[in-house]
Amino acid sequence: MVHADQVHKSFGAVEVLKGVDLRVRPGEVCCVLGPSGSGKSTLLRCVNHLEKINAGRIWVDGDLIGYAERGGRLHELREKEVAAQRRAIGMVFQRFNLFPHMTALDNVVEAPVRVRGEKRSVVRDRAAALLERVGLGDKVGNYPAQLSGGQQQRVAIARALAMEPKLMLFDEPTSALDPELVGEVLDVMKNLAADGMTMVVVTHEIGFAREVGDSLIFMDAGVVVESGAPREMIANPRHERTKAFLDKVL
Ligand code: ADP
Ligand code: MG
Repeated sequence: MVHADQVHKSFGAVEVLKGVDLRVRPGEVCCVLGPSGSGKSTLLRCVNHLEKINAGRIWVDGDLIGYAERGGRLHELREKEVAAQRRAIGMVFQRFNLFPHMTALDNVVEAPVRVRGEKRSVVRDRAAALLERVGLGDKVGNYPAQLSGGQQQRVAIARALAMEPKLMLFDEPTSALDPELVGEVLDVMKNLAADGMTMVVVTHEIGFAREVGDSLIFMDAGVVVESGAPREMIANPRHERTKAFLDKVL
């Protein structure tokens, strides 16, 4: 579902991704660990073309992201074509950024109606079902300010799912939450994984990575230092940098 091949990304003179490879099979959960500034968010942002890469290739479900390959040369896709690719990829951020003046239900309804031109009445039913699925069936009429951080993040997940993505990217989805609210969001993600969603999850929740992850990558300073099966890697990290990081977060 995701194939990143030697991805390089610089901001000005600073190279932030120095040849990153990533492979995620359909239905797999790939967790990404690494210290602050190692390039995790940038990698996710490159996958859905929020950032343009400087070298390398990224495919999502067989589609080359941001470019078309013709006669051995790469041509940049037009904005419309990029938008179409992006629609197939859901993203959940640390900050949920719900529309404050809209109910939970309307937050979920908005994108499919605006972006895909779907009929509001049809989307409302799907949105209600999604909110039910994330455990918020009784909060459809609440505004973000009337919801806890964990509930807001679950609305944000439902909002991403409303676009029926084939891939979900999570960037530290529980880092902004009070500790007692982390579990309810991880549970929703765990259920999503059990339902077969392909997910790339940047997280410091080692328990989640161990229990739900099919693969784990550890990034440091713009490179993948180590990757493998989560349990094995967490129990026996091969690289000193992985070990030092795990010692700090465990
Ligand atoms: P992580 O998510 O692992 O903490 P990031 O991908 O956010 O790391 O950032 C990696 C590096 O890239 C950091 O040094 C950060 O300052 C830099 N960086 C990220 N985005 C930008 C940007 N838009 N402009 C300049 N530098 C950036
Ligand atoms: Mg980040």
